[in-house]
Amino acid sequence: MKRCYQKITRIQMDILYKFIAQLVTVNDVIAIEDLNNTCMKMNRHMSKSLHRAMFGKFKKIMQYKCEWCGVKLVLVDRFYPSTQRCSCCGNIKKGTDKIGLSGNAKHHTKHHEYHCYKCGVKLNRDENAVENLIQYI
Ligand SMILES: [Zn+2]
Repeated sequence: MKRCYQKITRIQMDILYKFIAQLVTVNDVIAIEDLNNTCMKMNRHMSKSLHRAMFGKFKKIMQYKCEWCGVKLVLVDRFYPSTQRCSCCGNIKKGTDKIGLSGNAKHHTKHHEYHCYKCGVKLNRDENAVENLIQYI
């Protein structure tokens, strides 16, 4: 059992190193959300400690590799509302307008949709979040 766990960890680390190596070779600037605490809210099904440990490792390797390769690494404040903010008008969803993992129940939007109730724009949830991160940098 212990050997099996060690093997899984080795495979995970290998994937992580390869993924990061690829990221730093094709990008000049990389922004990651500092998810230390909030990541747990993002995925209730994943083991909390595993998720926290993996993100910690990811961040550490990323910082090291970026410094080594001269890539600018931006750690985005964990309270920056990249998912809730509209990248077009800057409006930030509050209360029952907020979108969760399965979308918004009040407005019947799906998990991949971002609908701004102020300016009316309809975007892909991930693309909107990425655009918000670009504006943060
Ligand atoms: Zn908007």
